[in-house]
Amino acid sequence: MEALLAATTPAPTLLPGAAATKEAGEHARLLDNALFAHAESVSSRFFGRDVYYRGIVEFSNVCENDCGYCGIRKHQRRARRYSMPKQEVVETAEWAFRHRMGTLMLQSGELNTPQRLKYLVDVVRAVKERTTALDAEQRSIDPAALPKDRTGVGLCVALSVGELPREQYQTLKDAGADRYLLRIESSNPELYASIHPPAQKWENRVRCLRDLKDIGFMIGTGVMVGLPGQSLRDLAGDVMFFRDLGADMIGMGPYITEAGTPVADMWQRQFGGVDKPAHMREMLTLTTRMNALARVTLGNVNIAATTALQAIDAVGREIALRRGANVLMPILTPTKYREHYTLYEGKPCITDTAEECQKCLNARLSMVDKKLKPGVWGDPPSFRQSV
Ligand code: SAM
Repeated sequence: MEALLAATTPAPTLLPGAAATKEAGEHARLLDNALFAHAESVSSRFFGRDVYYRGIVEFSNVCENDCGYCGIRKHQRRARRYSMPKQEVVETAEWAFRHRMGTLMLQSGELNTPQRLKYLVDVVRAVKERTTALDAEQRSIDPAALPKDRTGVGLCVALSVGELPREQYQTLKDAGADRYLLRIESSNPELYASIHPPAQKWENRVRCLRDLKDIGFMIGTGVMVGLPGQSLRDLAGDVMFFRDLGADMIGMGPYITEAGTPVADMWQRQFGGVDKPAHMREMLTLTTRMNALARVTLGNVNIAATTALQAIDAVGREIALRRGANVLMPILTPTKYREHYTLYEGKPCITDTAEECQKCLNARLSMVDKKLKPGVWGDPPSFRQSV
């Protein structure tokens, strides 16, 4: 696995640089072609040309944590903090349902308070009730006649709100949330420790993922690719971590610097001398190699072509869709908030509206011979098999 990841990147570190000789370059290109073609054939076996959408609403950038890489961390003074009113989130959800998104992903900074929990419970319940009623109306049936198990009815609600105690996860599940996305960021505890403050423990993140799965959430996880100090062995270990955890969805993106964060300083110390655009293009390739390896290793899970890929290349997500990914996450956050949810430099789409994002993605899908599977939750077959 490390050898496949290393196709153009000398192991065991992520030091940039093209293959040393012309022969090595050709060898790398052949390896990449074989890996990507295999990943695409596995994807098409399970999903055909279909791509699922998860509309993402970044409802608050208020955060009590201090992840060393993140542009909305507590100590990132430049970030102007906001929280969307509940009603605005529900209206955005209604828009998503009418535009046949299937899944709504609610994402935010982290806050472990009773007020935040109540906010989430209220929003999840309201989104479920409203979109279930709309669904019944569209199907011309009485909501009471809908199947008791509401799978596939209204919007599927996914949460990405960080580390919480098990009881809060249970409360959110009871309120109607279906899925939870929590990236492990790195499966190597030492690397994890180097990019988080001492109070944020790797073991607690693993505990959260296990609790979420145990409670019955479909779980998504993932890592950043190209972190300072990360090795190809770490990345190979990440894919094994996803497999051992039994993740239903994988979201991996390149690490992108954000000025004023400790990890951006670490990156500068390790990579300061390199041609940054060339290095980032390599990280895009490495991220898609990771997606391809995850597809080949894990089979029928959902794999996201993440927004951060587009920050490196205007068609970064489309490239990923040809290399094992099958999920796109259009940003639905109302435009006035987007510039304040800046996790990293060059985050795309911050001046767009939800309509523009959706239109743009539909056009992009046809470019890579894929098509949107509208109005479905897009549960991964892996989840259906494990229950
Ligand atoms: N707070 C929640 C959490 O950590 O799960 C959700 C929001 S958090 C901002 C979402 C993801 O953004 C993180 O899991 C992290 O991988 C990604 N992220 C943050 N800063 C990044 C950066 N500089 N480059 C790439 N991805 C970044």
